[in-house]
Amino acid sequence: MKALPIRLRLTLWYFVIFATAACLLSIASWWMLRRSVDSTEYHDLQERAEDVQLLLQHEDPNRNINDLRLDFTAIYSIKDDGKWLQILDQDGNWIYRSKRMLAENPDLPRPERLPVTGTIAAFHQGTRYVRILAYPIQVRNKKYSVQTGIALNKSMALMKTFGADLLLLTPATIILAALGGHWMSRKALQPVAVLAAEARRINDRNLDIRLHVPQARDEIGDLSITLNQMLERIDKAFASVRAFTGNASHELRTPIALFRTEIEVALFRPRDVGEYRATLSHLHQEAVRMTRLVENLLSIARADAGTERMNLQPIDLDDFFRRIDRDWADSMRLARLNFRFEMHTEDHVVLGDPASLSRLLTILLENARKYTPPGGSVVLSAVSEGAGVRIAVQDTGAGILQKDLPRIFDRFFRGEQAGIAESSGSGLGLALGKWIAERHGTDLVVESAPGQGSSFSFTLLRAGLTSLKSGSFSNSTRNEEGIAV
Ligand code: ADP
Repeated sequence: MKALPIRLRLTLWYFVIFATAACLLSIASWWMLRRSVDSTEYHDLQERAEDVQLLLQHEDPNRNINDLRLDFTAIYSIKDDGKWLQILDQDGNWIYRSKRMLAENPDLPRPERLPVTGTIAAFHQGTRYVRILAYPIQVRNKKYSVQTGIALNKSMALMKTFGADLLLLTPATIILAALGGHWMSRKALQPVAVLAAEARRINDRNLDIRLHVPQARDEIGDLSITLNQMLERIDKAFASVRAFTGNASHELRTPIALFRTEIEVALFRPRDVGEYRATLSHLHQEAVRMTRLVENLLSIARADAGTERMNLQPIDLDDFFRRIDRDWADSMRLARLNFRFEMHTEDHVVLGDPASLSRLLTILLENARKYTPPGGSVVLSAVSEGAGVRIAVQDTGAGILQKDLPRIFDRFFRGEQAGIAESSGSGLGLALGKWIAERHGTDLVVESAPGQGSSFSFTLLRAGLTSLKSGSFSNSTRNEEGIAV
């Protein structure tokens, strides 16, 4: 079933709560009034019975019953209290009985059978509704039952009017509450409608627009701030994608332009074999560089899309390093660099994705070769470190300027190296390397000082263990930076 709109739900809740409260209040106030009327009447009747007690106390104890009857008839024939009164002594002799009591003849038990608080009864007599109290009294060791009564017409009328008023007022209050609830929910949700209208105007071309944040720090204010922060992130991600596309096109345009120029120059006039070979060899170098660039671009695009998968498996670092040593020995020798690997760990089986790790070490070794002048050295090492093995590529090269250090992992960033000609890199290597390290649950750390060389390192978990540091070792989640590495 489709959920009701919030506005209607709020109105309904408001209505139900108010209606229940109004009904409960009406019932409670009616009941309280009734109780207070009952209690007033009881005390009234009790007072009347106690009046009889006072009169009996003032009578001569030796007076006979007939004289007593005459006295009470004389007193109560003119007193209003006497209309509903009858007095019975403990021996069952009537001392006084009013005409109305005689006519109704309600039951009056002997005093010893009455509870100390008396007993209440009620009856109709003609149009009158009468309440009577049979109450025990004691005067000089003699007990009496006194039954007094009052017509309840006035209090009945009061209860009736009050009840009728409540019956009218309660539904009126409930209707007012429903209208109030509707108005309040409209008013409460109006800022949400305004926010929704503002948000609807935002699209991929005006992501710099921000929602209006109300002055008051309330829930709507918090929602606007949260949405604005989300817009900020989306805006940055979009800008990063645009910058990536722009930079990638720029990086590809340069070698293609170079290709074209070189081929045009070569074709301009007939040349000898040596010249053609030189041109082709240069074109081949550029093609290799372009292939690497396209591979890096593709890897980063796949990383952003979350389609690049890591297949973690045990890797024997000894074999792995030997293979790298074989692959790199010639190229390092050509660059006149002293290259070696060092193994400072007994347990050299780690968990990793062989292809990605090979990629990461290629990036680091290529940089070391590029940025280390001839005569320097490059060391690949593995050192045991807690539950893992720290792998480092250390060179004695140009080092990195302090101002460049925070940016070297940014995409397309190329630093300045003292004494090294402008590099042929694209600035994508370390961004990709950092991403690979993160997917292995570790971080790519750099230590470098200009003129003294650099060291890039990361830690891999030994095979058989499942957690390296506080973060878990996962290969299926995208890193938080996502697109904007
Ligand atoms: P590039 O293709 O320019 O090498 P990278 O992302 O691999 O791109 O590196 C970014 C920058 O970091 C480089 O331009 C360079 O300034 C600096 N850098 C990386 N590795 C080294 C290193 N071993 N020695 C000195 N500087 C380095």
